[in-house]
Amino acid sequence: MTIKTDDTNYYREKILREAPETEPERQLYFCERVREIVKERYGGEATFHIETYGCQMNAKDSEKLAGLLLQAGFREAETENADFVLYNTCTVRENANQKVYGHLGYVHSLKNKRPSMLVGICGCMMQEAEEVEKIKKSYRFVDIIFGTHNIFKLAELLFDRLTTGHMEVDVWEGTTEVVEDLPAERKYPFKSGVNIMFGCNNFCSYCIVPYVRGRERSREPEDIVAEIRKLAADGVVEVMLLGQNVNSYGKTLDSPISFAELLRRVEKIDGIERIRFMTSHPKDLSDELIQVMKESKKICRHLHLPVQSGSTEILKKMNRRYTKEQYLDLVDRIRAAMPDISLTTDIIVGFPGETEEDFEDTLDVVRKVRYDSAFTFIYSKRSGTPAAAMENQVPEAAVKERFDRLLKEVQQISSEVCCRDLHTVQPVLVEEKNSHMDGYVTGRMGNNTLVHFPGDESLIGAIVDVYLEESKGFYYMGRQEV
Ligand code: SF4
Repeated sequence: MTIKTDDTNYYREKILREAPETEPERQLYFCERVREIVKERYGGEATFHIETYGCQMNAKDSEKLAGLLLQAGFREAETENADFVLYNTCTVRENANQKVYGHLGYVHSLKNKRPSMLVGICGCMMQEAEEVEKIKKSYRFVDIIFGTHNIFKLAELLFDRLTTGHMEVDVWEGTTEVVEDLPAERKYPFKSGVNIMFGCNNFCSYCIVPYVRGRERSREPEDIVAEIRKLAADGVVEVMLLGQNVNSYGKTLDSPISFAELLRRVEKIDGIERIRFMTSHPKDLSDELIQVMKESKKICRHLHLPVQSGSTEILKKMNRRYTKEQYLDLVDRIRAAMPDISLTTDIIVGFPGETEEDFEDTLDVVRKVRYDSAFTFIYSKRSGTPAAAMENQVPEAAVKERFDRLLKEVQQISSEVCCRDLHTVQPVLVEEKNSHMDGYVTGRMGNNTLVHFPGDESLIGAIVDVYLEESKGFYYMGRQEV
């Protein structure tokens, strides 16, 4: 089928007229139309490359974007030197945007040599109107712009761009829609992230996520269970249930169920041997969930429980809606039920108004909880968040000094607690060949700790028993028990 320019409008009108209304049929239809055009435009196979920034939610979105492009006849390329380059952006920190602009400068030079090349930008950064305006004005070589709420529409937007010849911009304010059953290209054959909900209603005062990911909406439990059944049939043994705040799962459903109840249902799926989830918000973590984790054979004994600060005063300013005492009490209840659980966290240092006493409270929580590890961040002002307008921004030198003290404390405790399983046999999910040690593979224990031991690629994707011979602080060296 050849499409001559003057036929394009006729062709386009005809295709749009015949397009299904409902999803995912509509997008699968446009995948086929794009496949036809790509064949003609690129003489057979075209290539795509996705640059992904930010969190596991974005990584999961990129798997869906890759699935749509493969369905539309593209082949994945390792570098940005591809027929279609797509940036799936993050905007959690001010400097995240700068990275994208850096890449746009580079890809513009590639496109100058290869005019048929297409460039797209999506994700959280595109939910910010001023960034979209900047791209439209100063980066006119960009072909497609869309946000976080309509990533499922990539094929339709590609079709529009290919048949109109001009930049396609389609950023939604929000959505209540969850489109199921779209193709996704999984990064690992043996494990997969599974979105259980989208958006966040918590509005922590330093966080831009609620403004770029919208209001919470949970997927139907039947759809989640159906997706995981398919994954299990496809060889997946470990799933990571994903949400900005998984503990409020189900609240927006017509017939609400709790997150704990969802876990009970996932636990019953044959073939799934490990269940992980993130991220938890301490204010919503229920005793029901603790009980389900305790009784479970499959839910991994690892909980990522961001505290952010140990000071009740600062937690109030952060709008976290729990106090230092409530957080510590929650940890006590979790530990009482599961003494062997691995706890990790996120901590922000230097939040506006943070005093030395506030910081001491944070150190006190770290000493009391004794985390396996902690992601520690220096507070970074994020325009568009309430905290950015707060007085008493803490002087840089003070923040730096506190950050160093915190890191030292966290690392010291981590090296003490992370060797607790030394000289025991632990089930390890083998994830990859070790890139530094020939003849070694690398895997993770249930509590997420890394283990390196002698073995070959045939073990990848299997859960094997490993005797932990040596602790290296954040990981173990071991040998397989046969
Ligand atoms: S819970 Fe708070 S920090 Fe997490 S995504 Fe929501 S607003 Fe941001």
